[in-house]
Amino acid sequence: MSEKSKIWLSSPHMGGEEMFFVEEAFRTNWIAPLGPNVEGFEEDLKSFLKQDIQIAALSSGTAALHLALVLLGVGRGDEVICQSMTFSASANPIVYQGATPVFVDSEPETWNICPDSLENAIKDRLSKGKRIKAIIAVNLYGMPYKADAIRQIADQYEIPIVEDAAESLGSKYKGQRAGTFGDLGILSFNGNKIITTSGGGALICPSKAKKKKAIFLATQARDDAPHYQHSHIGYNYRMSNVTAGIGRGQMKVLEGHIDKRRKMNQFYRNQFSTIDGVSVFEEPTQDYFSNHWLSCIQLEQTALPMGREEVRQIFLRENIETRPLWKPMHLQPIFKDCPFFGDNNISERLFANGLCLPSGSNLSDTDRERISLVISQNLR
Ligand SMILES: *Cc1c(COP(=O)(O)O)cnc(C)c1O
Repeated sequence: MSEKSKIWLSSPHMGGEEMFFVEEAFRTNWIAPLGPNVEGFEEDLKSFLKQDIQIAALSSGTAALHLALVLLGVGRGDEVICQSMTFSASANPIVYQGATPVFVDSEPETWNICPDSLENAIKDRLSKGKRIKAIIAVNLYGMPYKADAIRQIADQYEIPIVEDAAESLGSKYKGQRAGTFGDLGILSFNGNKIITTSGGGALICPSKAKKKKAIFLATQARDDAPHYQHSHIGYNYRMSNVTAGIGRGQMKVLEGHIDKRRKMNQFYRNQFSTIDGVSVFEEPTQDYFSNHWLSCIQLEQTALPMGREEVRQIFLRENIETRPLWKPMHLQPIFKDCPFFGDNNISERLFANGLCLPSGSNLSDTDRERISLVISQNLR
């Protein structure tokens, strides 16, 4: 019945006040590049996350990751450790800098970087005389990584952490907001994320000096001179005042979006509670609070009559979008020659059996009824 409207995995959800800030940008002619919306959005993010950090609003999450690596001095011949199970944007900036990604497997509780495999990777690379400049840890689908365990290892070997919190704005670990676990952190406001500026990102910095350096690099690295004078390579990575206006409006509905995404997760837990062989991804302990950006399931092939691809097709026939989990980077053609550390094929198995389900904060009761019907008619 393809005439039914499409139910998306995760689509933009405007709150209503975005246009006020965008119109204000037009009215005051603060169209580009900077202006009060950029500063306002940065202040909003800061008061949401933590008072003693600094935010630099940028053109994308990928740009923020790239700048984080530039700030950490990652260059040719260096290595950067990266969680294998993630979106390619976590790893690409390593290559932009001419460095080599070293991929590390997940652990089964949070699906994020495994502390044991991380330590194995560090020991191995150091024993081969390699320079490891950073560890990129990701909060996949909103679930915080094992922040204490990873911090302990990073500190022991004195390697800074870049926290990829693109998917986890609003999540917490032991009461602390995601985005503030790393030495540097990044957010994304791409169209599919929990809030969006239509396209954008942010770098989370520990100090004003770091933020100043980040903005200097993000605005073409102009030295202090009346003419254009450059003694560094710069980038054009700053967020515009128009898109930051969308962000300011979105910050007013962020708490509501988190609540609704978490309710979608509860909905799926109810739906699948009586179905053997399907488990919904949820917080392993009370220490974790996920924004449940996407709700995901694992299918246990032996208990179900069908595999992940068949389940995806069943939803697709009803015009409902689902998607396999992120394909691990060590299995991607472009990264096949990069080192990989992991003993139990955790990410490979998660990928083989996992599916992301519609999770948007704008899904309606009718949407949920359609999803529920597909589940009860095909999977029970
Ligand atoms: C979306 C995403 C990014 C990239 O953010 P953009 O704003 O799209 O550049 C990076 N890492 C992860 C894990 C993401 O999901």
